[in-house]
Amino acid sequence: MKIGVLALQGAFREHVEMLRGMNVDAIEVRLPEQLIEVEGLIIPGGESTTIGKIATQYGLIEPIREMVAQGKPVWGTCAGMIVLAKDVGMRQPLVGVMDVTVKRNAFGRQVDSFETDLNIPAIQNGDPAPFHAIFIRAPFIESVGEGVQVLAQLENGTIVAARQGNLLVTSFHPELTRDARFHEFFLKSLTVKE
Ligand code: GLN
Repeated sequence: MKIGVLALQGAFREHVEMLRGMNVDAIEVRLPEQLIEVEGLIIPGGESTTIGKIATQYGLIEPIREMVAQGKPVWGTCAGMIVLAKDVGMRQPLVGVMDVTVKRNAFGRQVDSFETDLNIPAIQNGDPAPFHAIFIRAPFIESVGEGVQVLAQLENGTIVAARQGNLLVTSFHPELTRDARFHEFFLKSLTVKE
């Protein structure tokens, strides 16, 4: 199984390390032709405007859209979630394929970074241990379209993880923890078609 991590800017190394620790063949993707050899792609956290601009310059936007259309799993964490969203309330280069409205830097300056334990039944599979979620100047999902499954919410109802077919998005950074359950969930979507 070969998984690509978009390595233009941001926290891509941590995803690669997490995947390699799970015995997955993970490669850093910088060129469109590399997308042909991977079965899935992770778009990491970082700065979505920068990632979108570089992806445009490198001719990666259309090939990523094609991957999505082919049904290959694509997961965006934090800035990656912004890059995958159809609507972010402002103009910036996006892959723009998921029916969600995302608000950038949504938690404001006072609490721009925080950590919390979340109950995420989809990845816990009956395991009572919550998932420790790290938010760094994170976006959240304001609204979801038809066919989007909400996976995780904060106590006040704020949506912080969702899935639509082969697309997965999280506001937080599972690659910055030692908990591989979210990565496992993503890899499982490679083999289990729903
Ligand atoms: N604030 C960043 C953005 O808007 C996202 C932050 C992150 O990925 N940790 O792109």
